[in-house]
Amino acid sequence: MEQRDQWHRVTVDAALAALETSPQGLSQPEIEARHQRYGANRLPAPPPERAFLRFLRQFHHILIYVLIGAATITGLLGHWLDTSVILAVVLLNALIGYVQEGRAARAITAIRHMLAPQASVLRSGRRLSVAGEDLVPGDVVLLDAGDRVPADLRLIRAHSLQIQEAILTGESVAVDKQTEPLGKAAAIADRSCMAYSGTTVTRGQGCGVVVATGGLTEVGQISGMLVNVDTLKTPLIEQMEVFARWLTLVIAIVAGLLLVYGHFVQQQAFAGLFMAVVGLSVAAIPEGLPAVLTITLAVGVQAMAKRHAIVRRLPAIETIGSVSVICTDKTGTLTRNEMSVATLVAGGQHFDVECSGYAPTGSLTLARDVVAPESLPLAVELLVRTAVLCNDAELHKQEASWHVEGDPMEGALLALAGKVELYPEELRSRWRRTDVIPFDTRHRFMATLNHDHRGHGSIFLKGAPEAVLALCVGQLDVNGDVQPLEERQWHRLAEQIAAAGQRVLAFAYRPVSASHSVVELADLEQDLVMIGLAGFIDPPREEALAAVVECQRAGIAVKMITGDHASTAAAIGHQLGLPNSHHTLTGTELDRLSEDQLAAVVRDINIFARTSPEHKLRLVKALQSQGMTVAMTGDGVNDAPALRRADIGIAMGGKGTEAAKEVSDLVLADDNFASIVAAVREGRTVWDNIRKMIGWTLPTSSGEAFAIVVALLAGLALPVTPIQILWVNMITTVSLGLALAFEPTEEGAMRRCPRPRHDSLLSGALLWQIALVTALIVCGVFGIYSYAVGQGYTVELARTLAMNTLVVMEIFYLFFIRNMNSTTSSWNLVRGTPVVWLAVVGVTLGQVVITYLPPAQTVFGTRAVSLVDAVLVIAIGFALYVAVELEKQLRLRLIRAGQP
Ligand code: ADP
Ligand code: MG
Repeated sequence: MEQRDQWHRVTVDAALAALETSPQGLSQPEIEARHQRYGANRLPAPPPERAFLRFLRQFHHILIYVLIGAATITGLLGHWLDTSVILAVVLLNALIGYVQEGRAARAITAIRHMLAPQASVLRSGRRLSVAGEDLVPGDVVLLDAGDRVPADLRLIRAHSLQIQEAILTGESVAVDKQTEPLGKAAAIADRSCMAYSGTTVTRGQGCGVVVATGGLTEVGQISGMLVNVDTLKTPLIEQMEVFARWLTLVIAIVAGLLLVYGHFVQQQAFAGLFMAVVGLSVAAIPEGLPAVLTITLAVGVQAMAKRHAIVRRLPAIETIGSVSVICTDKTGTLTRNEMSVATLVAGGQHFDVECSGYAPTGSLTLARDVVAPESLPLAVELLVRTAVLCNDAELHKQEASWHVEGDPMEGALLALAGKVELYPEELRSRWRRTDVIPFDTRHRFMATLNHDHRGHGSIFLKGAPEAVLALCVGQLDVNGDVQPLEERQWHRLAEQIAAAGQRVLAFAYRPVSASHSVVELADLEQDLVMIGLAGFIDPPREEALAAVVECQRAGIAVKMITGDHASTAAAIGHQLGLPNSHHTLTGTELDRLSEDQLAAVVRDINIFARTSPEHKLRLVKALQSQGMTVAMTGDGVNDAPALRRADIGIAMGGKGTEAAKEVSDLVLADDNFASIVAAVREGRTVWDNIRKMIGWTLPTSSGEAFAIVVALLAGLALPVTPIQILWVNMITTVSLGLALAFEPTEEGAMRRCPRPRHDSLLSGALLWQIALVTALIVCGVFGIYSYAVGQGYTVELARTLAMNTLVVMEIFYLFFIRNMNSTTSSWNLVRGTPVVWLAVVGVTLGQVVITYLPPAQTVFGTRAVSLVDAVLVIAIGFALYVAVELEKQLRLRLIRAGQP
């Protein structure tokens, strides 16, 4: 490929010859050979951050600085034991941070791989969709509106093709493309016969031969600039980091004041006081929280991926649980997108078609009598010819079953052709396509210009009945003669088919002269003849039915937004159980409404038909103006603004275009409505778990800290030593707190109304919870400590008891938090998840070790605890559980009593 950079100068034929390929594409052996030679079509990956640097970065944390400072001071004071414990804590903290960050990052990367782009190619004359990475120079790539160009291409066909090349040229206006060679000096932005990797097709259709892949593409040359960093930061985590930083500052000031007060006013020895203040700071600073929240989000991302919802923008996972309305496409999302032609109207006759998937077999019946293919009227033959030629799909047989490459509706038309013994390959080779106007949701039709070998030309048109009828002047009768158009009659017929839930398509044609070589909109405004109608069935998905019910219970409105006929949409909506589904609003009606009028009715209407992508944007705005959190699905390039504007933009992974995926927050791997609902459920779970994590961490940290503060202020002996506090804080936050990240979905999660959009995590209720639990913990710790002193125990044993009580209370409080939303509690107390039990067992073992193992006893200053005292410790934990649970029951009852 010596001609690098010169492809725009050569003709199509010369380019194909230089690349040793043809418009039919390469053969499989040749592709494999080139794959070996050129490698995968992938941009060189940026070097990953070195593991060692990633580890070092864990130390860049204000708490760690505090701890290292403390270690230095205790070292200087000669308290080597304390120093080494603090350093051990620092190291452990960094290690845990490192491992957790790695896990979260891996979860995100794994999901990125699921979003690998596909490309449509011609290989050995067959249309296939392959992974973009598999392209090799010489491959013939098909381009459609919304596609991301998968490699650098020399265009060999272009039909009203426009491409947006901002990524290369910075110019955001799409440029027109064509196939003629250009002069030498053309700059990248002017090379209109080229399509460059990474740019986006905004309109039209085209086809090009791959001239460069991977790092050799234009974008590959500058890819250093395009490395996108995968951050795990979301607004919530940033908020928590800011919060943690402020809290650290406040704690540092309080700690400093305590130090001064204790030393100068109470005349305490500096060394002991200093350690107490350090212990207090470490306990109070919620250092683990951001890391643990990141894990929760990563767990959520994985859970959603398992349910076929791939999170593209991490912050979305915080919002998705609060969605209060889902606006969804009909075709393929609520329905299966497995189409088959069920009805045919042509030549004044009304046929029923036997459906059997995409297999091109089955018969046509007229008033229950089977009609043999040879005795079908001419109009049917012409309809099928139009259907096959004005069609980009292909049917492939794999083992025993048939599947479609391309649009399922077009695939159904090819299957229909087989049923009347007309064969697509034969028709298509006899009638070569000369030009095309691709389907566009704005005009709702597709037209092609074809010529046969003898030079007869014809325009073939298929599209929505209203769109086609508006262009026609005549119609075909049963003998194939042209009669004046009876428009009203056709509309009635179309309405009838649509009312049965079928999607209706109309077909028309117009003979043109042999010299006619381009088809433009103006050509469609003369002499077009209506041939007939086809009705397609596309059954609703079973899972969608259940998902609609689930939404209703969860207080989430479901709105269907479709380009289809209002009657078809209403019928499908009715089958799916959407409330008020006879009440539809069409795009034309919508255009007549002002923003205020739309906002007034938007809540009550669930079916929007014959809409264009622009309407989606208006609907999103109208719903948002009503205070709703909107999830909106889309697949086309024109859906991008609505997807971007919606709180959660959802693109279809299967039929969606790259352009839609790129602006979306979520991509559905299976295009299924049920997956949206599953994602909402996971989103609610994530939010619940975040609330639980914060609701557990803050009160327990504050409880630990206050146990020390109270002792210091009252001039009492510390009930728990600073080293013990360090230990408790370390071991509990990484095990107990983390266990909450893996909490399963609560039973009632989808029976609650969506939470308000700007519901704050740090609420008054949380402050109250912190105050209550802190008080209970302080009472528990001092209670057991004074009991021990009263019993005449040593200070060491009293402290051991107090420390163990602290941990046991935190465990019981964890069980309380797990069920913070439910009123029935007795069972849930013991019914934990494996993760929770693992954490509890781990912490318990840790406590047993430092309480009973002699070497640990030396380091932590602990003593063995008798069985009776151990039971007492557990009883105190249980008492805390009972106290907070009673308070919750009372509070929930009061709230309920306050409601009407
Ligand atoms: P949906 O929202 O159901 O996906 P679309 O916007 O894709 O609807 O299609 C709207 C209408 O346009 C369809 O009801 C059909 O009449 C017509 N239509 C859809 N696809 C094509 C196509 N490939 N060629 C011609 N007409 C089409
Ligand atoms: Mg569609």
